[in-house]
Amino acid sequence: MRLGWLLDWIYPPRCRFCGEPLPSHAEEYFCSACRERIRIVSHPLCPTCGRPFLDGGGEDHLCGSCLMRSPYFERARAWACYPTEAIEGHPLRDVLQRFKYGRKLSLGKPLGRLMARACAPFFHDCTFDVIVPVPLHPKRLRWRGFNQALVLAREVGRGWGVPVDPFILVRSRETPPQTQLAEEERRKNVRGAFALGRGKTVQERFVLLVDDVYTSGATVNECSRTLCRGGAKGVYVLTLARAVS
Ligand SMILES: [Zn+2]
Ligand SMILES: [Zn+2]
Repeated sequence: MRLGWLLDWIYPPRCRFCGEPLPSHAEEYFCSACRERIRIVSHPLCPTCGRPFLDGGGEDHLCGSCLMRSPYFERARAWACYPTEAIEGHPLRDVLQRFKYGRKLSLGKPLGRLMARACAPFFHDCTFDVIVPVPLHPKRLRWRGFNQALVLAREVGRGWGVPVDPFILVRSRETPPQTQLAEEERRKNVRGAFALGRGKTVQERFVLLVDDVYTSGATVNECSRTLCRGGAKGVYVLTLARAVS
């Protein structure tokens, strides 16, 4: 406690996006102005993929894409969403980009803690045997230096008391970046891109898959397919952000 005060005094906590000082000891990541621009995921949402229905109230209901094609995972949830159209200067998108592409590893841990704290209620009825981060291809891992999904997964594992195993899933094939692709292409792009790690099993286990962003869901769905084929009892998905069109 005392050390916490001292650290706050030496390094006052600041908003990770705009640098505005935060009230000391606040378990906050963004200042209130930035926070207002971030849409926290809330009901009504799709009970399967977690897509929030941003306009209007009403009950939770399945979204169009889950109705058309039921995903391999049981449930996906995210902390907050931002618009798919790449708008510059969105606090959440920007911080994630700096963490991921700007290699600001120091941004990752608090984001993971935020995710663990804020998303626990979405999975209050679940018990997980293991947390699996969405893997990067070794080539991309070498280039980036770290797997952002693993950094987040570690904090969630620590917060929820669940072991993290980054070797359960591997990328068996390199895939071109998904960003420019339409939904159908994304699905084809990642088809067969994952495999279970050598000597790894998920037989009869409940798995929580962790990634930074859920966009079309193609990547986490393909990971879930691999885990289900490997005998997982159920796959759940947690991401920090959700890109919503
Ligand atoms: Zn701010
Ligand atoms: Zn859905």
